[in-house]
Amino acid sequence: MIKSTYYFLSVLFISTTLFSQNQEQQPRKPGHTNTNKFKQLYDEFSTPNMYRAASGAPGSAYYQQQADYKMDIVLDDKNTKLSGFETITYTNNSPDGLDYLWVQLDQNKRAKDSKSPLIETSKVSPVLRPEQFFKGYMNNPFDGGFNIQEVKDVNGNPLQYMINSTMMRVELPKTLKPKEKFSFSIKWWYKINDHVPDRDRSGYEFFEKDGNRAYVIAQFFPRMAVYNDVEGWQNSQFWGRDEFALPFGNYDVNITVPADHILDGTGKLTNRKDVFTKTMMERFEKAKKSYDKPILIVTQAEAEAAEKSFSDKTKTWKLHADNVRDFAFATSRKFIWDMMAVKIGNKDVMAVSLYPKEGNPLWEEWSTITVASTLKSYSRMTFDYPYHKAISVHAKNQGMEYPMICWNYGRPQEDGSYSDRVKYGMMSVIIHEVGHNFFPMIVNSDERQWTWMDEGLNSFLQYVAETDFAEWYPSALSPGDDTYPSRRGPAKNIVQYMGGDQDFISPIMSKGLNVHQFGDNAYGKPATALNILRETVMGRELFDYAFKEYAHRWMFKHPTPEDFFRTMEDASAFDLDWFWRGWFYTTDWVDIGIKEVKKYYVSSEPNQYTKDYLAKQGRSAKDLVPLVYMVEEGSEDYKESLKKGTLLDNSKPLKEYLMDNFSEEQRKSIKEPKYFYNVTYEKPGGLVMPIIVEYTYADGSTKREIYPAEIWRLNDNEISKAIASDKEIVRIAVDPDLETADVDTSNNSWPKEVKQNEFDKFKKKVKG
Ligand SMILES: [Zn+2]
Repeated sequence: MIKSTYYFLSVLFISTTLFSQNQEQQPRKPGHTNTNKFKQLYDEFSTPNMYRAASGAPGSAYYQQQADYKMDIVLDDKNTKLSGFETITYTNNSPDGLDYLWVQLDQNKRAKDSKSPLIETSKVSPVLRPEQFFKGYMNNPFDGGFNIQEVKDVNGNPLQYMINSTMMRVELPKTLKPKEKFSFSIKWWYKINDHVPDRDRSGYEFFEKDGNRAYVIAQFFPRMAVYNDVEGWQNSQFWGRDEFALPFGNYDVNITVPADHILDGTGKLTNRKDVFTKTMMERFEKAKKSYDKPILIVTQAEAEAAEKSFSDKTKTWKLHADNVRDFAFATSRKFIWDMMAVKIGNKDVMAVSLYPKEGNPLWEEWSTITVASTLKSYSRMTFDYPYHKAISVHAKNQGMEYPMICWNYGRPQEDGSYSDRVKYGMMSVIIHEVGHNFFPMIVNSDERQWTWMDEGLNSFLQYVAETDFAEWYPSALSPGDDTYPSRRGPAKNIVQYMGGDQDFISPIMSKGLNVHQFGDNAYGKPATALNILRETVMGRELFDYAFKEYAHRWMFKHPTPEDFFRTMEDASAFDLDWFWRGWFYTTDWVDIGIKEVKKYYVSSEPNQYTKDYLAKQGRSAKDLVPLVYMVEEGSEDYKESLKKGTLLDNSKPLKEYLMDNFSEEQRKSIKEPKYFYNVTYEKPGGLVMPIIVEYTYADGSTKREIYPAEIWRLNDNEISKAIASDKEIVRIAVDPDLETADVDTSNNSWPKEVKQNEFDKFKKKVKG
């Protein structure tokens, strides 16, 4: 039993009043709104319902529409013209009757009357290169819009339709009821554009030296828009930047191209025997068993021979794809083709590359290996890659993704030499675009509305995959590099953007079309936020489980931002509303620092500090003896003897208390700190974040402490921590590894550090 002679005192000192902060009382104001940064996101989030559950999972009544396509496509290489006849079968899985369907005509972005150029501002520039001048003032716009020849039902009856820029409304003969299907056909053609000058996502590159073209063809057919529970019809126009929203479906596509062309695209090649030579067939069988290096299906010598042939005959390549949200293909007689197998789970997937000789020697060495590595990384972080292949196509200045196929840049000089920048750029873009198979091709978010949902998540995983790649293929690194030079993901790389001019920064939760600094807004910042969430806030174990859960829940479905935010909390027991609010809904930045450090010793004698403190409470020291008094080092009442004495030497009341209340045995295990500190942390930045602190002691040892973000919940400006230590603290550093994207590190250490370069400047000045 412990005897309590100090009952009176314990009533007086409720909790830790000795170190309490002086909370200034603010004048009372009417109509105060709750701006607490830890307030739940009920105002920003839509209410959970039968379609989307509060857990972030698809709800019990979740539905999605289906669009199946049968298409015959003909490429006219001589006239650079693409024509097609497609039959769309649309299944209405929604609970709503539909009177019309919306079809996307993305090629109309390149129509003569396209409004896209009209929303771009322009200005007379005092100097221009001749080609810029020509393009700006003398060039007739290229007419690459769709020519819609007919829209008919399955019986050949014309259907009424109306085209509004890049969207076509097709009138249904009668309301399409829930669970009903409707089939209709569209016949179309358009003039294919050269994708190089405008960096278009689709088109051809013309190779002047041999007169050939390499086609990368996408958004090439009228595609169904998404109809769902959150947007109704997603028929927001395609202005050129915000990408696509597309329903899943099954595709049967026959593509007729010159007979000497090579072609690959979304889906399984169903007539391989018709389009492959016997040699190609043998090489293909060999590639299916090659797990460590790619096997050439078409060699460079064969591709160079084909470049000269210009066949008048044609060949039809037949592709079938199940459960994809889009379809794209690449074709040329210039293509070299290689493949290798990669084990994903218990299944083999083919990693594939198509490139003209202009991509070598870089492409034959690294493209397919990079594809294979990416599939392994992303599968590790999400789910096993479900398709049977992933293709990387070399295309000048391109970086664009489609199901199973993507276009990537990275071209060596004409003599075959290349810089590190070109090499790493090529590897990074391949990792990024192959990675898009997962987001948004399979976890099918609405790119038209939320660029960050695919680009941000994908750039975050790209960073993880680049780290894996460097570990699995160390020979990919240039001499002198021991890590992969990742651009997006590391916290320090986003500091300049987040600390920049607020007039040119938008919240991540913005439509991509409308933001300044698109790359930082939709790629860099969300990728960094997720990296910080994983490494600093949640830890890898909790984050990875929740992230994987999100990927599994929404695989082959259409998630919204809330589905992501909610799942991350639901699967981790981590309240992250403050994180989503700060990083995704505001443009606040991180800046946390040390405002002040005070050092104390205990004493038996009352001093001015304690007298003032007690006076505020209407008491005097005499009423309350005996007390333990804290004396600030350097204050009037401070004596050097306090520093020399032990805790119990310095405070008689404390010693008596211990003697009266604890046995000799118990006293042995009592802590006896010698130094007391009051550390005040300030937060000039708006974002609340955990405070990561490293305390360095006089003996050189260090201690890390992470105060969770919730430490800011009652005071958004500054907080303090009382620290009792048996060793003297000589240095305190906030965010010592630069992992929070703190925009101003000048307040991150105590004592304040003079920066090396400033110090050097100072030295130079002194020396004159
Ligand atoms: Zn991307």
